[in-house]
Amino acid sequence: MILSLLNTTALLVFKRTSFTMPRGRTLLNVVSELEKFAPLNLAEKWDNVGLLIEPPKERSIRKILLTNDLTERVMKEAVEQATDLIVSYHPPIFAPLKRITQKNWKERIVSICLAEGIALYSPHTAWDAVPGGVNDWLSSALPCIDMQPIQPNPLGAEFGGAGRTFTTSLTLGQAVARVQRHIGLNVHLALGVNHDLDTPITVVAVCAGSGGSLLKGYEADLFITGEMSHHEVLDANHQNTSVILCNHSNSERGFLHKFQNKLDDMLKGDCEIIISEKDEDPLKTQVKS
Ligand SMILES: [Zn+2]
Repeated sequence: MILSLLNTTALLVFKRTSFTMPRGRTLLNVVSELEKFAPLNLAEKWDNVGLLIEPPKERSIRKILLTNDLTERVMKEAVEQATDLIVSYHPPIFAPLKRITQKNWKERIVSICLAEGIALYSPHTAWDAVPGGVNDWLSSALPCIDMQPIQPNPLGAEFGGAGRTFTTSLTLGQAVARVQRHIGLNVHLALGVNHDLDTPITVVAVCAGSGGSLLKGYEADLFITGEMSHHEVLDANHQNTSVILCNHSNSERGFLHKFQNKLDDMLKGDCEIIISEKDEDPLKTQVKS
C-alpha cells in the first residue's frame, strides 16, 4: 500500500516536471525557425533586425517571451519569468550604442540581458512585410477582398511588402466598430471632409505602426494605422479619406497572440512561449472628469 502510494506520488511529480520543463532548443535553431517565418531580407534596409543579443554562455531555450516593446518593466518580467529568449517586435537596439552604462534605460536593458544570459531577437519590418504578418493581422479586422501590399516586395507581391490595400463593403461606423473589437481598445477617428458614420467604405489602406509616409497621397476611403501627424491627418481628410488611428503599438501588439500559436507549431512544443503582461502602449485615453 505504502509502495503503491509512493509510486503514485512519483508519477505525479514526474508528470508535473515533464509538463513544466519543455525539452528546449538551441538558440540558433529557434532563430532559424523565426527566420523561416519571416526572412530578414523582407525587412526595410534602414531597419535593425535579427538576433541582437547573443549571450556568451550557450543555454537551452526553454522559455520565450513575446513583446511588442522591450521596456524596463518588460525586462523585469522577463527576468522574473526565467526567460531564455525575448522576441521584441520593435528592435530595442536601433541607434548604435557607444557605451553600456546604467544611465540610460536602453543601455540598462542590454546590460541585464548580458548579465542574465537572455538572448534578444527582433523581427520588426520583416513581420510587417511577410504574408500572414502584422499588416495582414491588422487588415483582418475588416472583410478583405483582393488584398495587396501598398508597396509590393521587388521579388513579387507573394513575398508581401509594405502596408496593405483591399476593398470591403461596410459603412464607416461599422469599420470603426470592427477595428475596436479587433484590437480590443478604443480608436481615434478623423472624418474625411464629406464623410459621416454612414458613408460607404470601399477602398481601405492599412499600415501598422506609423503610417504617415507610406499612406501619404494614397487614394482610399479609409486609412487604418497606429499614428499619423496632425498635418498628415488633415491632408488625408481633405482628399476625402477618413483615418482610424489606433495608437502606434495598439495597431501591432495583437499579432503576438496569433504568432504565439504559429511559433508553438513551428517549435513542436519544445519551448514554452508566453506573451508579456507588462507590455502596453504608453498612451492612454483619459476620460474628462
Ligand atoms: Zn511600430
